[in-house]
Amino acid sequence: MSRRRIIAGNWKMNKTPGEAVALCNELKDLVKNDAVDVVYCVPAIDIVPVVEAVKGTNVHVGAENFYIEDKGAFTGEISAPMLKEAGVEYVIIGHSERRDIFGENDILINQKVKKAFASGLTPIMCCGESLALRKAGTYKEWIARQIKWDLTDVTADQVKTLVIAYEPIWAIGTGETATADQAEEVCKMIREIIADLYDQATADAVRIQYGGSMNAGNAAELLSKPNIDGGLIGGASLKPDFGKIVNA
Ligand code: PEP
Repeated sequence: MSRRRIIAGNWKMNKTPGEAVALCNELKDLVKNDAVDVVYCVPAIDIVPVVEAVKGTNVHVGAENFYIEDKGAFTGEISAPMLKEAGVEYVIIGHSERRDIFGENDILINQKVKKAFASGLTPIMCCGESLALRKAGTYKEWIARQIKWDLTDVTADQVKTLVIAYEPIWAIGTGETATADQAEEVCKMIREIIADLYDQATADAVRIQYGGSMNAGNAAELLSKPNIDGGLIGGASLKPDFGKIVNA
C-alpha cells in the first residue's frame, strides 16, 4: 500500500505576518517536491498572508487550532468556516502543548476532529506519551486510549483521509529524537489499532507522521520506516532545513 508522504511544519507561536511571508519566500524553491504533500501550519494571524504567499506553489496551508462552534461569543477563538474561507486545508488537533498548557482533553479533541471533517478540513490529530509514561512502560496503553477516545464516532471514510501525528512529548523541542525503531514501533501499533477499530483498508490508508525533533539529519532514517508516512516538524520548519526534510 503506498501512501503519499506528508511533511507538515508546525510554526507554533512564531513569525509575525511579515516574517511569515519572508519565510515562505525563503523556503519556496527548497520545498519543491511533487511526490510529497507539504503543509505549513501557521499562527492564525499569518494564515491570510501565507495563503497568498504560497499561491501557485506546492505548499498547502494548515491552522494550529480552532474552536468547534461556527460563530458566537467565544472570545479569542477562530472557527472552522473562517479557516476554510481563508484557504486553510489542514488543522492540527490535540497537540501536546494544547493538551498540557491549555487544558484540552480528549472529549474536546474528539469534538474538534468531528467538526474539522464536517467542515472540510483535514485533521492532523496528535497523540503521544510523556517521559514518565515512557519510563513506566505504559505508553502503548496510553496512546491506544487517546486514539480510541479521539476517534469516537468518526467514520472509516473519514479516517482514510486523516493524518495522525505520533509525537512523544519527551522528544518535542528537546533535541531528543525517538530512534527510528521506537517511532516505527508506535506508528505500527497505531495502524494496528485503526485496523481493529475499523478495517484493514482504513488502516492501510490512514497517514501516520512522526514528530519530535525531526531535522535534516535524522529525517531520512525515520521516513524510511514502513509505517512512518511523514513528519510534523516544529523547530526545523522555521529554517531552510525544512526543505531538506521535505526532500529526505
Ligand atoms: C511539534 O511541536 O509538533 C514538534 C514536533 O516540535 P519539534 O520538531 O520542535 O520537536
